[in-house]
Amino acid sequence: PESKLPALGTTIFTQMSALAQQYNAINLSQGFPDFDGPQYLQQRLAHHVSQGANQYAPMIGVAPLREAIARKTAELYGYAPDVNSEITVTAGATEALYAAITALVRAGDEVICFDPSYDSYAPAVTLAGGVLKRIALQPPGFRPDWQAFAALLSPKTRLVILNTPHNPSATVWQQSDFAQLWEAVRQQEIYVLSDEVYEHICFDTHGHASVLAHAELRARAIAVSSFGKTFHMTGWKVGYCVAPAAISAELRKVHQYLTFSVNTPAQLAIADMLEQHPEHYRELPEFYRARRDRFVKALSGSRFKLLPCEGTYFLLADYSAISDLDDVAFCQWLTQEVGVAAIPLSVFCADTFPHKLIRLCFAKQEATLDAAAERLCQL
Ligand code: PMP
Ligand code: GLN
Repeated sequence: PESKLPALGTTIFTQMSALAQQYNAINLSQGFPDFDGPQYLQQRLAHHVSQGANQYAPMIGVAPLREAIARKTAELYGYAPDVNSEITVTAGATEALYAAITALVRAGDEVICFDPSYDSYAPAVTLAGGVLKRIALQPPGFRPDWQAFAALLSPKTRLVILNTPHNPSATVWQQSDFAQLWEAVRQQEIYVLSDEVYEHICFDTHGHASVLAHAELRARAIAVSSFGKTFHMTGWKVGYCVAPAAISAELRKVHQYLTFSVNTPAQLAIADMLEQHPEHYRELPEFYRARRDRFVKALSGSRFKLLPCEGTYFLLADYSAISDLDDVAFCQWLTQEVGVAAIPLSVFCADTFPHKLIRLCFAKQEATLDAAAERLCQL
């Protein structure tokens, strides 16, 4: 058939994880932990399975999970979303992003995103018939240029997609960034899709700035999160989004026929976890800060130049002192010859990205990080 997405191949995450396996390399490419999530969470999953919670969940998510999400949101961002009309549980953040884009973007609408950007946004915009306008963020700060942003706005602008803490740059937005976004979009009916899957992995002293803490933007925003990141269980694929009732109603029309509902026992187990062990997400910044600091220290003797990491479990490394290869070729070489797999940054950008930067995932056991650092220090 004629392809609706002719330019699209296999994702870089699948490619690099496969290459890592082929060459038996330490896999710091695709973002997932090499350790398990909490025992309690596993036990609760087994419990709910044994209790017969094995049939369809309600389309919008099980009530205990939506209630727990509402409590967590109120605690962290000072806003308690309505449990019935504003919270939707989805099959990972990926489904929430897809459902939001599909529900909001009409043929010919323009969507603004910031490059480097996560790989799932653009295909969803294309399939909806939208036109993606990208603003390039420049290293090392990767800050939005608000003048460039204002220049991209047009009467056709329908949606802005942002991501904080940001994959892959590991930078975070401040409340002031949201204030500037609001100033830029307030005159027009523009929606905001805020990808906050790393909301609990933020090292900034101000903590994570959520779109949900901004009263005006919140009225037009969909905030997306993922329990895969929060509970070290990326394979469970349970996420959610929070949006005003009218936007949620549209988004649910898509969700209803994309997946209808999400894995019942996993939802119930996550609800128990949020209820009984809120310290897990409260302590997550410290948990990952310790890993980040250990890895940064272990790499301090290397010829990589490390960029600041304010959030996420990714660290950017500049290899210009080591090699002239472009970043894709360097990552292939690094996997095959050095035994460490990483992600090249240029794949997150539509325009050429001339920088020599790779992304290393530090959601790994200490022994994994130490072994990888030892190899990287030999270059
Ligand atoms: N957004 C970003 C920025 C991500 O990094 C990821 C996954 N790592 C996702 C969305 C997708 O999350 P999920 O696995 O819950 O679908
Ligand atoms: N989000 C993960 C990353 O950035 C990958 C998820 C996936 O493989 N689709 O590495």
